[in-house]
Amino acid sequence: MPVKKVLVTGATGRTGSLVLEKLRQHPNEFEPIGFARTEAKAKELFGSTESFFFGNIKDKATLTSALEGCHALVILTSAVPKLKAPPQPGQRPEFEFESGGFPEEVDWLGQKNQIDAAKEAGVEHIVLVGSMGGTNPNHPLNRIGNGNILIWKRKAEQYSIDSGLDYTIIRAGGLLDEPGGKRELIVGKNDTLLTNPPNGIPTSIPRTEVASLVVQALREPNARNKAFDVISKPEDEPSAVITSNMSALFARTTSGL
Ligand code: NAP
Repeated sequence: MPVKKVLVTGATGRTGSLVLEKLRQHPNEFEPIGFARTEAKAKELFGSTESFFFGNIKDKATLTSALEGCHALVILTSAVPKLKAPPQPGQRPEFEFESGGFPEEVDWLGQKNQIDAAKEAGVEHIVLVGSMGGTNPNHPLNRIGNGNILIWKRKAEQYSIDSGLDYTIIRAGGLLDEPGGKRELIVGKNDTLLTNPPNGIPTSIPRTEVASLVVQALREPNARNKAFDVISKPEDEPSAVITSNMSALFARTTSGL
C-alpha cells in the first residue's frame, strides 16, 4: 500500500494535535502534514515545525501549497468563542468571537476554502470533524456571540458532500480530555442521540477517541461517504462494551447529512 500523504488543519488545536500525533505513529501508512496559524504554538506542542505548513484557512492560497500531493485532508479547524470577561460572582460567563474569527468566516468560508483547495489539488478523501446539534437552529451554541456556529458548520458539511470528493463527517458530542480506548462508542444521525440518549447517558466523547476515529476513517473503505454523530458510554456504565472494531462501527453509519 502506498503511504498516504494527509494534511491535518487545526493541527495545533486540541483534537487536531492528537490526530497528527496518532498519524505520526504509523509512518509506513501515513505522511502527515500539519497546517496551523502560528509557528510558535506548533513548536511548543511538537518540539519542532517539521512537516508543518503555516497559513490561514481564510486565505485559500496558503492551503493550496500545503495540499500539494495530498491524498486526504482532515479538517479540524473551528471558530473558538472567548470569554468576554471573568464572570462576577453569581453571574453566568459570557462568550464572544474575536474580530475575524466569527463562525461564518471560519466554519463556513474557511471550510469552503479547504474543500475547494482540496478538490483543485486532486485530494481523494476529506475527513471533517464537526459537532452534534446542527439540526436545531435554537441550540444554545448558536446564540454564543450571535455566531450561529452550528448552522455554519452544517452548511460546510453539506458543501463537502456536494464537492464530489469522498467524505467522512464525524459529528462529535461534547468533547472530553480523557484517555481513549476505554469506552463504547455509539453512532447516530441527525441529533437523535441528543434528544434520546441511550439510558440517559451524557452525550460526550473523549477527544482522543475522535482522533482514533479520524485515523481509522482514513484506513477503512466503509467510512467513505458517511456522515454520523458519535458519543460514548461512560467508562463505568455497566452495559458498556469497549469499542474495538471501528470497521463495524462505520458499517452502522450512512451517507448524506
Ligand atoms: P480547538 O482546540 O478549538 O481547535 C480549533 C483549531 O482551529 C485551532 O487549532 C485553531 O488554531 C484553528 N483555527 C481557527 N481559526 C483558524 C484560521 N483562521 N486558520 C487556521 N486555523 C484556524 O478544537 P477542538 O476543541 O479540538 O474541537 C475540534 C472540533 O470538534 C471542532 O470542529 C469543534 O467545533 C468540534 N466539537 C467541539 C465540541 C466541544 O465540546 N468543544 C463538541 C463537539 C464538537 P490555533 O491553534 O492557532 O488557535
